[in-house]
Amino acid sequence: MKITTEQLTAYFDSKGAKGACPICSTDNWSVTPVAGPDGEVQAGEIALEISTQMVRSHSWVPVLPVVCQNCGFVRMHHTFWIQKWLAEQTDGG
Ligand SMILES: [Zn+2]
Repeated sequence: MKITTEQLTAYFDSKGAKGACPICSTDNWSVTPVAGPDGEVQAGEIALEISTQMVRSHSWVPVLPVVCQNCGFVRMHHTFWIQKWLAEQTDGG
């Protein structure tokens, strides 16, 4: 699944997920592009690993890293929540 940075911005806004970096107190976050299985990420798009089956069968969590552009602190968001929200928007809320 590929989503745009605009969709991610809307997601974080809807969750009130704004705020300063807990390390350096600046507020300049950037989503790190994550390549999909095909190794390609379009400009302005991010590929999410969203297979819940993979989550069940392996002990790892698919996450989207968001990086502080001042100090490099990385926060992580479970992509299932992002996928669920995007599906709700597609379904009309
Ligand atoms: Zn920081």
